[in-house]
Amino acid sequence: MQSPDAIAELARIWKRYEGDPDGAIHAITETAARALKVARASVWLLSEDATEMTCVDLYEAAEHRHSAGVVLRSVDFPQYFAAMLEEETIAAEDAHTDPRTSEFSKPYLGPLGIGAMLDAPIRTGLRLVGVLCHEHIGPTRVWGLGDAKDAAFLASLASLTLELKHRAMREALLAATLESTGEGILASDDKSVLAYNQRFLDMWKLDAKAMRSFEGVRNYISARTAMSGLVGAANEAFAGEAGESIDVLELDDGRVFERASRPQLMGPKVVGRVWSFRDITAQRRAEAALRASEAKMRDLAIRDGLTGLFNRRHVLELLNEAIARSLVAGERISIGLVDLDYFKKVNDELGHLVGDAVLRDFAKQLMQRFRASDHVGRYGGEEFLVVLRGANTSAAARIFDEVRRGFHTREFGDVPKYTFSAGIAELGVDGADAMELLGRADVRLYEAKRLGRDRTISG
Ligand code: GH3
Ligand code: MG
Ligand code: MG
Repeated sequence: MQSPDAIAELARIWKRYEGDPDGAIHAITETAARALKVARASVWLLSEDATEMTCVDLYEAAEHRHSAGVVLRSVDFPQYFAAMLEEETIAAEDAHTDPRTSEFSKPYLGPLGIGAMLDAPIRTGLRLVGVLCHEHIGPTRVWGLGDAKDAAFLASLASLTLELKHRAMREALLAATLESTGEGILASDDKSVLAYNQRFLDMWKLDAKAMRSFEGVRNYISARTAMSGLVGAANEAFAGEAGESIDVLELDDGRVFERASRPQLMGPKVVGRVWSFRDITAQRRAEAALRASEAKMRDLAIRDGLTGLFNRRHVLELLNEAIARSLVAGERISIGLVDLDYFKKVNDELGHLVGDAVLRDFAKQLMQRFRASDHVGRYGGEEFLVVLRGANTSAAARIFDEVRRGFHTREFGDVPKYTFSAGIAELGVDGADAMELLGRADVRLYEAKRLGRDRTISG
């Protein structure tokens, strides 16, 4: 085959090697051997620091054999490396005497019977990245202009191949990186989708078809997210082209995603934006459950289990706080100590469960009749303490009497009819602290019992 035919043939079948850079390099060395009629053709790659060359493919025509891996070092062949870095093409007609290649004479050319060499540089852009070598076995050989031209063309094909191989590797690496994270990732230049990973599709329940339009993806995302999605867009706009923002998207299906939005830079220039999405639903739920259980624990610690009123400890705490505030702000504080009348009889005649129902009923009545700013607690078995804020003795007594009289006409429903007695005391009138107030209220409660029960004593 004549050399132009061989190269035309390679040019024609070039597309076949798309995605197979190693196959393409083999085709180049075989074509080089055929076109330039040499026994050996090889492609060598120069290391980044230009101190080594590694053979990526050597084709030996006689044996139709490919091999690779030999490394040449610049310390061993300084003149060749210097020439290669400086010259366009090394065409050594007598490789044994040519100063550029004579270093190879003893160790390499002699044993293999090589007489002439033609090495064409492989460049990407202006940078030398390797060489395409043609080795002629036999005596010296005069290289023609056509040989050099063919070698240069094949070297440019090698350059293209290596570049494509490099790019394919970079793309594979990028794809692997994208897939190696647990986050859903979407990169766009604001007009089109540049990249995304499978996790992104899974998280948003999208398929690859939906990724054709960035506008479509963006609309889809905002249609599926609540208010905070809009806040997210505002955050992003506020962050500006080069800023970063993080927001939380609440999806209509109950999931919660955290979205980080970062500019994609090429040098100092913003060329797009990368969104990464993290599913924080489980974390959010755990936090909410924790908060709820903490609230429940707090509630359990301050409430009485049977009636739901504040327990003794907490209502005393509230009383002490109210007294402390009153010392500063001068607010009037009164307390009512309340005890059910003949409650033992309820238990004895109707049973403990009915007794419990009466206690719950009474707690409910107290809760309904006192203001939210007052504090109602279960002080003991069937004793209750009410802390009334902004009420003096007579106001407190009036309220208790109203409640008490209300019981006379009340429909009791499932619980038996019952009455209660109360003793009232006022801060600053009957005592200066909780202990004194409680003591006085207890004396009055006892007095109410002694006088026949179902009454309020306030002094
Ligand atoms: P008085 O009119 O003098 O107050 O008579 P009383 O029977 O109500 O007085 P006493 O203090 O002797 O009885 C209180 C009873 O309340 C005794 C106790 O068994 C009962 N009791 C205390 N706590 C509970 C409770 O949680 N559930 C029930 N069912 N009974 C309780
Ligand atoms: Mg009682
Ligand atoms: Mg009692």
